[in-house]
Order: sequence, then structure tokens, then C-alpha cells
Amino acid sequence: MSISVKILGSNAASFAYNRHHTSQVVEVDHKHFMVDCGEGTQLQAKKYNVKLSKINHILISHLHGDHCYGLLGLLSTMQLYGRKQVLTLIGPPGLSEMITIQLKHSKTVFNFPIELTEWKEGIQELLVDLPKLTIKSIPMKHSIPCAGFLFEEKPNLRRLNKDYLTKTLNPLEIKQLKSGIDVLHEDGRTKYSNEEFTLPPRKHHSYAFCSDTKYDEELIKWIKGVDLLYHEATFMEEHERARASDLSYHRGASRTYRNRSKSW
Ligand SMILES: [Zn+2]
Repeated sequence: MSISVKILGSNAASFAYNRHHTSQVVEVDHKHFMVDCGEGTQLQAKKYNVKLSKINHILISHLHGDHCYGLLGLLSTMQLYGRKQVLTLIGPPGLSEMITIQLKHSKTVFNFPIELTEWKEGIQELLVDLPKLTIKSIPMKHSIPCAGFLFEEKPNLRRLNKDYLTKTLNPLEIKQLKSGIDVLHEDGRTKYSNEEFTLPPRKHHSYAFCSDTKYDEELIKWIKGVDLLYHEATFMEEHERARASDLSYHRGASRTYRNRSKSW
């Protein structure tokens, strides 16, 4: 498996030339998760060939406009495209009210179901639990409730050692070995040793999206050891940490972390 991140926008507060409000699409195990949906996200999605029909989860970090003012437009476009499948929306307290008011006054009713969950401020919560992936919130310190998101692949099974793979192994025995269990004879003697017949599992990967936050060393405990970190940074010039040239790859670029590659 791999984790791929396509950044559609990374600019804070106002638009800048060729830079857009925050939004990105994270792909894990052929599932697509949109993180934040600032104004202009639809256009960026079109430009970078993001298929809206593939997005079944949208996670919102907080309700400042540069992170969520594209959401209603995006949902309306999904409606126009004839969406029928469930959309899971996960965001801060107030997201439900914000959407409901806009829909009420525009007399809009969506033809697809939306399952909306609001995370709790200041604690880490398990937000998504899929067979191969979990997504947890990361508490942020901002002027309004705000969270980042930690994507973690679940640990992989051990791999069969093909040098020892023979027809004598049945599916149950293979499953036991890949789960790290020795296969035993009825009298308890070892038939196939897990150590002999399998290799260690492939590394599982993790990705942390950290949205607007004050400088906060508490954050380290949530994100320590992740394979990839996206962290927004807005400073006055006297506190500049990175030059524009260092950031240029954010512009609508896609970077993929694959098992055998350490480069982005
Ligand atoms: Zn903000």
C-alpha cells in the first residue's frame, strides 16, 4: 500500500497568484479522502483530475473560510452530477449548523445521504476505522476549534516466504502463518513454523495533516514518527522559516510515498 497526497491549495487567508485556499486529497488503498475545502477547491479538483465521485469522506479542520467556504459549492456540484452514494462529512462543532442554515435559506435538499460527525475539541478521537486504515483527530491550538488529522495504515500481515511455499499449505494454514501463528499437528507438534515460512510484514505508513495552530510542542506527541508531515506555517517576515522556493512544490503538486521510495 501507499499513501498519496495531492495538494489542491495551501494558501492561508487570501488568494495569491496560482495559490489557493487549503484543500488536499489523500489516497490510501484506492480510497480518496478530501481534507479541507477552501474556496476554489472545485476548480483545482477539475484542474488536477480529481474525480468527485471517488470522494466518500471529507474532513474539515476548522470553520475559518479559507478551509471550508468551498464546501457547499462542492456538495451542490456532487448533487448536479447525480451523486447517490453516502458522503461522510467530519468536522468541528458547528459544521452541521453552518450547512443546515445555508441549505435552509437556499431551499436546497440533497438527493444523496450525508453522514455528518463533529469531533470534540482538545482531545484525540478515532474518526475513521477501515480494514486497512484509521484516521484520528489531532488537537490544534487556534482561535476557534481546530483539528489536524493523522492517517495511519494498519499493520500489514507477515509475508509468505516463497522459497518455502508448497502445495501442502491450505488456505487456513496460510492465514495462520501470515497472522504470525505456527501451524500445529493435532498432537501439538509444530507442523509449519511461522518464523521459517514467513518474512516480516512490509512497513505501514502514516501521514499527519496539521492545520492552523499556534506554536505548540504538545503536538509532537501526536505526530512523532510519521512518514510524512504537512504543517501549515504562517509567519511575519521577521519569523520567516522557509523561503518561497522551498514551498513551490505545494502548488497543486502531487507527491506519493511508496513502499520502496523515501522521496516525495
Ligand atoms: Zn484558521
